[in-house]
Amino acid sequence: MAPQWCSHSIPFINIHSPVCSLSLTSGANMDPDTRRKFQSITQQQWGQLGYLDQDEATPTRGTIIDNSLPIFDQRTSWTLPAGMTDDQFQQFSNTLSPVFQLATKIAMSPASLEYFYYILYSARGELVELSSHHDSSTKRFAKTYSIGPEETARRVGAALERLASSLKWAFTNPETWPMEGSKAVTVWDTQNLSRPTMIMEDATCRGTPSRIHLSTTFLTTLESLHSQAGDNRNQILNVQFQMAKTILHELTHALDYAINNNAFTMATMLKNGHTVQTIPSTLKIEAREPYFEGEGIAELGCSWENYVFGGYVDWKFGETNTPSFVREWPSFLSEYEFTRGAPDSSPVRRQWVVPMTWLRRLHRQEFWDAVDPGDVRALHIPKSAYQELLNPNGGTTSS
Ligand SMILES: [Zn+2]
Repeated sequence: MAPQWCSHSIPFINIHSPVCSLSLTSGANMDPDTRRKFQSITQQQWGQLGYLDQDEATPTRGTIIDNSLPIFDQRTSWTLPAGMTDDQFQQFSNTLSPVFQLATKIAMSPASLEYFYYILYSARGELVELSSHHDSSTKRFAKTYSIGPEETARRVGAALERLASSLKWAFTNPETWPMEGSKAVTVWDTQNLSRPTMIMEDATCRGTPSRIHLSTTFLTTLESLHSQAGDNRNQILNVQFQMAKTILHELTHALDYAINNNAFTMATMLKNGHTVQTIPSTLKIEAREPYFEGEGIAELGCSWENYVFGGYVDWKFGETNTPSFVREWPSFLSEYEFTRGAPDSSPVRRQWVVPMTWLRRLHRQEFWDAVDPGDVRALHIPKSAYQELLNPNGGTTSS
C-alpha cells in the first residue's frame, strides 16, 4: 500500500558553521570552543536568549494546568508496548504528561484553533498546478469567514473530541516501516477503514482514520535527560516543546484526512487490491493535501507551524545540545521542500534561534492566562539572533 505521510529529515547547509554541540545548560558547562562555532551569534546574544543561565522559577514540568485533550489519552489513544507493567505505564505517563499539557495549550491557542477551523470549514478551491514538480497538483484552501474565537474554539474542540475515537498514536522504531528515518509519520489507518471518521456536524462528511507514529527517539531522549546527573532543564524544555509541536504537526495531517472522503475512497481501494498506478489520477489529486493560501508547498503540518509560530521550527533531531531554530516557511532549504514545490532564487536564508526565555514562558500557566483569544500572533516566536544558511540549490532555478 502507499500511505500518505510527511517525512522530515531536513539537512542544512550551513555557511557559518555546523549546528552542533551547543550546550543548552549553564554557561559554566558550555564548551567555549563549541560556542565559537556559532560565529554569527555573540555571547551577549546567547545570554539575552536565556541559554547561559537557568531560571530557578522554571521546573522541568512547568506549572501549566493538566487538562490534556482526550485525543492524547494514554490509556485509550496510544498503542502501548505489549506487556507494559503498571509501573512502566506510570513512568511513561509521567515523562509524557508535560508534553501533552503543552500540546493541549498550543492546540487550543488562537492561531491553532483558527487554522484547524480553516481545514475543517474552508471550501477547497480549484485545482492548482504550481510547477512541473511531481505531486504539485492539488486543491487550495484559504481562510473562511470568521465566526469569532469562542465559536471557533467550540467547533474545533468538538471535532477533535470526535477525532479522538479513531486516532491512534504509537512510538515506533525510526528504522522500521513506516518511519524510514523520520521523526514522525501519519498514515491512513487501513486496519480501521470499516469505520470512517465522522467528525463534522454533517454526518455525510466521512474521512480516513489515521495512525500517527512518533520516533521512539523522543521518548528515549527525554528518559535519558531525566536520568542524567546535572541540571539539564533547558534541554528537557526544548525536547518537550519539539515533541509537542511534532504531535500537533501530525495531528494537522490527521485532521485533514479525517474530513477527506476522497482519501477514504482511495485508502479503501488500496486495501482492496488497487495500486497507486491503477487509481484514477483525479481521485489521487482529490485525496491529496491542499495548499493553504499562497504557499508554494502543500504540507499542512509545516503550514500549521508557520501559522502558529510565525515560521517552521526545526531542530537537529535527538541532539540535545543543539537549540531549536525557526525559519521562514517554505524556505526551500531542503530536498524535501524542493521536490514538493516551486524553486526559490534566494542564495541565503536565515534561521533564528528559538529563545529559551520564550520556551520557559510556554511552561507557565500565567503566560496562557494572558493570551488574548483574538491574538493569532500570540505564539509567534521572537526573532533576534540568527544564522545564515546557504540555499543548497545555489539560488538557481531547479529543474
Ligand atoms: Zn508534515
